[in-house]
Amino acid sequence: MEDIITLLPDHVANQIAAGEVIQRPASVVKELLENAVDAKASKIQLIIKDSGKTLIQVIDDGIGMSSTDIRLAFERHATSKIKKAEDLFHLNSKGFRGEALASIAAIAHVEVHARRPVDQVANCLKIAGSQVESQEISPAPKGTSIAVKQLFFNIPARRNFLKSNTVELRHIIDEFQRVAMAHPEIHFLFLQNGSELFDLPKTNFRKRIVGIFGRRTDEKLVPIQEKTPLVLAEGFIVKPEYAKRTRGMQFFFVNKRFIKSPFLHHAVLAAFEGLIPKGVYPGYFIYLQVDPKRIDINIHPTKTEVKFDDEQSLYAILRATVKHSLGLFQVSPTLDFKREPTLDVPYAFKDKPVQKPYIEVDPSFNPFTPSTVSRKEDPRGWESLYSVMNEKTIESESIPENAQIPLDVKDTPKVFQLFSKYVVCAMKNSLLLVDQSRAHQRVLYERFLKSITTKKAVSQQLLFPVRVPITPPQALTLKGAQEILEALGFQIQFKENEEIVITGAPDFFPAERIGELMESVADVTNNENKTSLFSPADMIAKAMAGATAIKPGQTLNIEEQQGLLDDLFGCKESTVSPFNRQIFITLEKQDIDKRLH
Ligand code: ADP
Ligand code: MG
Repeated sequence: MEDIITLLPDHVANQIAAGEVIQRPASVVKELLENAVDAKASKIQLIIKDSGKTLIQVIDDGIGMSSTDIRLAFERHATSKIKKAEDLFHLNSKGFRGEALASIAAIAHVEVHARRPVDQVANCLKIAGSQVESQEISPAPKGTSIAVKQLFFNIPARRNFLKSNTVELRHIIDEFQRVAMAHPEIHFLFLQNGSELFDLPKTNFRKRIVGIFGRRTDEKLVPIQEKTPLVLAEGFIVKPEYAKRTRGMQFFFVNKRFIKSPFLHHAVLAAFEGLIPKGVYPGYFIYLQVDPKRIDINIHPTKTEVKFDDEQSLYAILRATVKHSLGLFQVSPTLDFKREPTLDVPYAFKDKPVQKPYIEVDPSFNPFTPSTVSRKEDPRGWESLYSVMNEKTIESESIPENAQIPLDVKDTPKVFQLFSKYVVCAMKNSLLLVDQSRAHQRVLYERFLKSITTKKAVSQQLLFPVRVPITPPQALTLKGAQEILEALGFQIQFKENEEIVITGAPDFFPAERIGELMESVADVTNNENKTSLFSPADMIAKAMAGATAIKPGQTLNIEEQQGLLDDLFGCKESTVSPFNRQIFITLEKQDIDKRLH
């Protein structure tokens, strides 16, 4: 029998390696940026065309390459960064595997110009599908420029697998931001299709973060710092009140390398415990410096996961540090602890004279016209359940303006607010406990979605237009969402990709929350587009519902409580919030009877 095993030719081996390292244009961006950082560049430019599908180019002013090195750089396992296995544990560079350039050249057309400071001329190498096409001298400046074209030209499956330009660009922006955030000492520029997305001059960590995420970020940051023999931890946490529903701003860097670590993430979450509600995520930018001996970076081809020597201690240190800063800067919970006094019986009332209950009546209230907490449109008979509540009616015509009407106890509506958080309603055979915030989110969400499709939202001209500073990538996503926002009643003007001016807003929308909303629209569409499970309209409706809904801790009057229940049960779906959380529970009479047996 013949032997059947052969060694794969280099170009095949390279293509296989590329499958791991280069998944999409953003992977190329990451590798090229990291090489430029390793080359000690002080300025790095990233130039992209069509989200990297047409061109990805990185130009640096670093150490350059000799005419031999430029050729060797594209061999597999060719690196200037380590010489022996032990070097893996003294790493000061991003790269060390020596496979990125070989992989990229196996699946794209690559043109490199490189010139060392000592050389008079640069060298230019062209290589495609692992085949060197030419090498000649060139007049390029000091440093290195690598241009990657026709990515995946020889792997149609990969090429077809690429997502829309928006999605691919988002991935590229993510990679760019991670490298730029880790290296504020380097000037970074980013151009997409000829327009500038970022220009980030050399600065410190804080200003770099603000440069990337926009001016509004500055006020949200709280510094952290801790030095122990094991680790130096620095950076910032985002104040709890700015915690978001999306996992946008969560960054760990270890020795200036962005990493993902569910374990360390958990440490930060633990520190935030009790300060932020469920379903929202804290933001953080945490830079850790550890002895390279104590970590293993070589456990994942893209090097975004690392193994720490002493994870448990790191966890404890990180958690304590974050907690300390939250305390030190007196970052207090955002929940409004203003209590609803009528519910504190008997304690709040024990020293007070007994008062008759009253409600405030709005004489202009007409149950047949939609109000801010609008009437139900399609109750679908659910109110038979809830009829007990409607036994109370008020003759509003005969009541003078702003009158406070004493109610007899028998007239007290069977709905009340509990813990400033729930609306409780007595029904025929059960007790309904509704989470006010989630219920309102659901109501608003359905209303917003409807406005988007019918385009009948009422827009109100703002007396004082609201200016919101934005970053160019935010401008990009907001432009994509403009039509939907306009359908909802927002009028938006873009100023040079740096600021938006909102001149009109839906009549119900509080002007002071516009900035926050625009930010979350930019973030929500950014983040979730990657998986693109939901339409942009859906995401915006969610963001708006999240931003405008009644919050836990907010006191509601009786009409608002009833209106909310009416609206909720007029919804197409009344059991879960748009963020997929349960809205209410019911306690059945028979269960209550049983328990009191
Ligand atoms: P690694 O970064 O793991 O060493 P790469 O395939 O990314 O592997 O790069 C191979 C080698 O090419 C590097 O070790 C470095 O010597 C050289 N090189 C790559 N990019 C640059 C650059 N921008 N400037 C100078 N040298 C570079
Ligand atoms: Mg590299």
